[in-house]
Amino acid sequence: MPTLNARHAVYAGSFDPLTLGHRDIIRRGAMLYERLTVAVGINPEKRPLFSPEERVDLIRQVVAPLGNVDVAMFEGLTVRFVRERGAAVMLRGVRTLTDIEAEFTMSLANHVLDPEIETVFLTASEKYTHISSTLIKQVALMGRDETARLLADFVPPEVIPPLTAKHRRPS
Ligand code: ADP
Repeated sequence: MPTLNARHAVYAGSFDPLTLGHRDIIRRGAMLYERLTVAVGINPEKRPLFSPEERVDLIRQVVAPLGNVDVAMFEGLTVRFVRERGAAVMLRGVRTLTDIEAEFTMSLANHVLDPEIETVFLTASEKYTHISSTLIKQVALMGRDETARLLADFVPPEVIPPLTAKHRRPS
């Protein structure tokens, strides 16, 4: 009798901030699995733009229309969190060959750490392959009037006001 639920997947990442690419993976994952948990990783070595609480709050707003998606934060090994939640699947999105290489190594390591948990990859939609949280932070940093309009091509609408507020120049 398996202890983990194969119909429950966890999509873990930094989501600093959530992008249209992430939202696309969440929507597609929510169609494939009965339950999807989006998990915001707390990495003490990174200095994020948004606090873990801010990221969780933003993602909750974005996934509100999806009935089978919940949002949580975690620290430490992802596989440990996935097991704690009782899920059997780790969902990841891949954009490029470089992503695939890194994700492949990570999935092998995770399989050694917990052989009952499988990593499942979804390929990024063509229209979102160029989007990364790093690029978005660079665009937001420009802090110009047209920034909000430019960001609309990269992040969900809910993310734009908090993102521009981070870099608003005092006038
Ligand atoms: P991490 O720091 O764990 O890589 P990210 O927040 O950058 O976290 O990404 C979380 C997951 O989403 C990863 O599997 C990543 O490859 C995937 N991802 C990132 N950007 C996109 C995108 N534009 N389209 C599809 N998947 C993406």
